[in-house]
Amino acid sequence: MYKHILFATDLTEDTEYLIEKVLTIRNFTGAALSLIHVVEPLPGYSYAYLGIEDIEGQLITEARQSIEKLAIRMNVSKEDQFVEVGPTKTKILKIADDVHADLIMCGSHGRHGLSLLLGSTANAILHGAKCDVLTVRLPEEK
Ligand code: AMP
Repeated sequence: MYKHILFATDLTEDTEYLIEKVLTIRNFTGAALSLIHVVEPLPGYSYAYLGIEDIEGQLITEARQSIEKLAIRMNVSKEDQFVEVGPTKTKILKIADDVHADLIMCGSHGRHGLSLLLGSTANAILHGAKCDVLTVRLPEEK
């Protein structure tokens, strides 16, 4: 059975929907659990545009705080919490390798039109992962 689950979270309200499913699989398998959130680097001009000097630093700090809160709720230890900066797919797959995850869990939105063509994070993970991937279909936005 699975020994190490990596839960990729975008830290949006979708996370609430996923928590129970991740915990159920974890309890069922007795697997270790790691959490990852990736902060995508912002283009240089956004700093001038938004007038905030260190947006990236601020985003990382906020992400760390959110991941810590989530980790308490999900009973995940400090060394199993990851906040990474870079391309989302690449970073998720790298941490999956690093922790020897044998299951990645993430959400998946129904896609139509252009966004279907552009693809989703879930798709990218699914195509690049060396281990199993469980994509949880998220409720449709109203
Ligand atoms: P998407 O279809 O791109 O909105 O994302 C689908 C799923 O990918 C989300 O429900 C998360 O599980 C995962 N994901 C998206 N963005 C991130 C992120 N920045 N960090 C970690 N996981 C993410």
